[in-house]
Amino acid sequence: MKLILLLMLFTSAGKFQSDKVYVCRSGSSYAYHNRLCQGLRKCTHRIDTVTVREAMTTGHKKPCGYRY
Ligand SMILES: [Zn+2]
Repeated sequence: MKLILLLMLFTSAGKFQSDKVYVCRSGSSYAYHNRLCQGLRKCTHRIDTVTVREAMTTGHKKPCGYRY
């Protein structure tokens, strides 16, 4: 219940937090990508589409080095 309220809060908090990004589910991945960029093509694991906030809570704390 609380989680749903929080999600609604974050979704309406701003475009940045709810933007969809891509993350590579490898253990060493630390960045998120906003589309299938050069860095993401190296990913040999599962690629998930998540929000920026979800990416950050799973350890992908910064935009990828290829500047999208
Ligand atoms: Zn990237």
